[in-house]
Amino acid sequence: MDHSVDDDRIRGLDAAHRAALEFLSSLDDRPVWPRATLAEMLDAFGGPLPAEGLDAEDVIEQIVSRADPGLVAIPGGRFFGFVIGGTHPAALAADWLVSAWDQNSGSALLTPTTVALERVAGRWMLDILGLPESASVGFATGGQMANFTCLSTARNAVLARVGWNLSEQGLRESPPIRFVVGADRHGSIDRAARFLGIGRSEITVVDSDDEGRMRPNALSRVLDAGSGPAIVCLQAGEVHTGAFDDFAALVPIAHERGAWVHVDGAFGLWAAASESLRSLTAGMSDADSWATDAHKTLNVPYDCGMAIVRDPADSIAAFRTGGDYLVYTSLDPWDVTPELSRRARGVPAWAAMRSLGKGGIAHLIDRLHENAVAMAAGLATIDGIRILNEVGYTQVMFRLDDDDATRALGEAVLVEGTAALTGAEWRGRAALRCSMSSWATTRDDIDRTVDAIRDLVAG
Ligand SMILES: *Cc1c(COP(=O)(O)O)cnc(C)c1O
Repeated sequence: MDHSVDDDRIRGLDAAHRAALEFLSSLDDRPVWPRATLAEMLDAFGGPLPAEGLDAEDVIEQIVSRADPGLVAIPGGRFFGFVIGGTHPAALAADWLVSAWDQNSGSALLTPTTVALERVAGRWMLDILGLPESASVGFATGGQMANFTCLSTARNAVLARVGWNLSEQGLRESPPIRFVVGADRHGSIDRAARFLGIGRSEITVVDSDDEGRMRPNALSRVLDAGSGPAIVCLQAGEVHTGAFDDFAALVPIAHERGAWVHVDGAFGLWAAASESLRSLTAGMSDADSWATDAHKTLNVPYDCGMAIVRDPADSIAAFRTGGDYLVYTSLDPWDVTPELSRRARGVPAWAAMRSLGKGGIAHLIDRLHENAVAMAAGLATIDGIRILNEVGYTQVMFRLDDDDATRALGEAVLVEGTAALTGAEWRGRAALRCSMSSWATTRDDIDRTVDAIRDLVAG
């Protein structure tokens, strides 16, 4: 290393900057799905760690020169797999600053700038989504951890209501908790339950309708059949259909029976930001906790999820530590999530919201929905394709008559490269689904995708 630390930093950052812009400008033309397997990428990066170090610029160049075949074009306009979302420019730029600043954002005393940015981002989000302004907002890695954080808080709170102090008395002898979920909940709910010591056989599943919405009369039946502490998990945005539970009917049923209501709204919570889609979320703000992602619908880079809890005292009861080397201010980020040290992952959320403005966020959500409607309309013109859901939000699900042909089409789309979408099972049949989650998707992206799929179906 023959230049100064400053030089090393500048060259390293310059190399990363160049490579980032090159990658982003390649998005429109590159195949969306990776061209290389994990085994090939392990070969590319593997081998023993050399004894000698390298300059930052050379390190970046080694990464960049080998990375490309194994990269997936998630930030582009034609990645429709899972429920993912791209990267808004302001959020990406802010994310770089987060790393450069290197603020350990668990404590308000230590890092007031980033904690303030996150707190304001949280307040903006509560306002946009019509949630209680006094709720606590914890920034977690994503929807999974946001669900876990909220449900962990809920477990504490419902036990406290029957006089059981979980922090003191532990789980082993505690009164049983009825953990009630919809038949079409996201898998992360079951994983969160598992982390909480709630086993699969202890989960009560409530029937759902054709779009995956929990049936209200089935919920009352289930709750009336038992007693004691209960947590009911509802959903804003089913991953296949995009459907929303009927909160206005379900939340009162749960509350009248003393249950805590949690809403998994990883991508669906954001519907409340749009005037035309807000009705999907009617009654949602009466719940007790909500989980969402900023890295999906809001289009910030990974990772960024939010755990929202109506009463911050419940968050504090679940997470504030007694470690006396930690200094407390009124409400620290580490009081509302399981983490202590962490990056300031909420800063890109501030940047995305500030960049879009309230109107821009509403417009973004409307556009994702319009894209879904356009995609469904385009796909429906292809002989043999049947759209399977109502397309009331951002998800489009479809299939061919034959399950094997449907799966083969899914594989063929990835190989062809114009777009990426992912397969699913729905009501026992193979299906494919497109999630409209990226700010970058244009009408042209949809036309190109529909044309590519039309050619593949025609064979
Ligand atoms: C994506 C998703 C999750 C999990 O979120 P991650 O950010 O992947 O951890 C949970 N619930 C729903 C409905 C989702 O779509």
